[in-house]
Amino acid sequence: MRITFVGHNEVYAAEQSLLALFPEEKLTYGPPEPADTRWAVLSMEEREGRCRFTTELHWDGNTAVREWSETLSGTDYENEGLRRRCLGKSVFLAARDAAGIAPAWGSLTGVRPAKVAAKLLRQGAEPEEAVRRLEEEYYVTHDRAVLAAEAARAGLDAAAGLSRRDIAAYIGIPFCPTRCAYCSFVSSSVERSLRQVEPYLEALLEEVRAAGELTRRHALRVRAFYMGGGTPTTLSAGQMDRLLTAFESAFDLSACAETTIEAGRPDTIDPEKLAVLRRHGVTRVSVNPQTMEDRVLRAIGRRHTAADTRRAMEQVAAAGFQHVNMDLIAGLPEDTPEGFRRSLDECIALGANNITVHTLSLKKGSTILTEGLRIPPAEAVAEMLDYAAPTLRAAGYAPYYLYRQKYMSGSFENVGWCRPGGENLYNIYIMEELCSILSMGAGGSTKMVGPADRRITRAFNLKYPQEYIARPEKWQANQAEFAAFYAEE
Ligand code: SF4
Repeated sequence: MRITFVGHNEVYAAEQSLLALFPEEKLTYGPPEPADTRWAVLSMEEREGRCRFTTELHWDGNTAVREWSETLSGTDYENEGLRRRCLGKSVFLAARDAAGIAPAWGSLTGVRPAKVAAKLLRQGAEPEEAVRRLEEEYYVTHDRAVLAAEAARAGLDAAAGLSRRDIAAYIGIPFCPTRCAYCSFVSSSVERSLRQVEPYLEALLEEVRAAGELTRRHALRVRAFYMGGGTPTTLSAGQMDRLLTAFESAFDLSACAETTIEAGRPDTIDPEKLAVLRRHGVTRVSVNPQTMEDRVLRAIGRRHTAADTRRAMEQVAAAGFQHVNMDLIAGLPEDTPEGFRRSLDECIALGANNITVHTLSLKKGSTILTEGLRIPPAEAVAEMLDYAAPTLRAAGYAPYYLYRQKYMSGSFENVGWCRPGGENLYNIYIMEELCSILSMGAGGSTKMVGPADRRITRAFNLKYPQEYIARPEKWQANQAEFAAFYAEE
């Protein structure tokens, strides 16, 4: 689709809106060529404190022109949001009229659809009122509006327990046994980078010690700790023991309510590693089969089987963790609605008290795109998700966090479901941007949440293990920024 901007240059917001509505379109910029059948002109006009966006959309012979306007009545930051909202609504209405689409999330194109519901609830709306307004003002379907209101409620409950100097801590282990076909993460496969694991750990221990000191110096309370990746359990039992020992002695964890370790690939789990995690008080592990269909696992290059997942879950149960999560993905190559159903039913039967249902996101650089793997159509993905929600509800799970990504099949969502008391605070904190996150390790993204307007400042660690090891000055600069952020108060 060819896009022309008039009176503005809101490329990011336009892409976010258009790709949420037309995830398979390739966007190019400039005036339409005579041969183009899909093109849009996005115009903005601001006059006397009002902003008006007009979208003229041409879609395979159909044309629609729709506009939306708002009064710019807030701070600069809030007005930026209002402009993006105008753009999103005009694009949505034009897309609905010209292309006949009615996406589940309506005109909501952002990563965090529960945020709108949370704002309504904070303003005093009852959940039913928030649901109604999401349906009427944002064209969200009833099911999704209910999901958003429930996730927002869980977010507000989590926020109520936080004070200004509460933070979460994250450690990233950027290694995996093999690379999955849908992955765009910079995770290095251990087969190719085994030599890097030990020097990476040494560099990481140094960062962890400095980070712990920083949090003590500024009287910051770690409320939740999460180790993700990659696959943290690619570390050996001894390496994991060293890392967790260093973390515990560096940080004051007396207010930390939970510790989560992603044990994502079942083929990296064994009783010895699980015993180390239990000894260190880990409260939650995440075993992520993605599917229980061996054919699909082969197609996505996971190199483990459903039998490995069953074995891993038996070992996890025997180790006695308080909470266990399993991740599934709807829309994987070679999967079908029946296959997804079998996978979900089995995860429930295996006893996980958290089940996270992702929708496949087609990320640039993933093998799915580079090798053109066959994926189920959006209708099949919708069928999978339509099965997931009522099935999980009937089994006693409720949604507690939700987010969306770019390029998602059918433009749906990822939802964390749990049984009562199984909410993972870290996931809520990060998705609802409730507190700062101090991230350690290659690729770590530290977030600082502003006290007044909750504006987010980010500081990124270097991505690749090699550069992270070679240039500690980058994480040192990030920690200095984090310290300065809290020293100002
Ligand atoms: S386990 Fe996760 S991080 Fe590792 S290759 Fe697969 S998708 Fe990527």
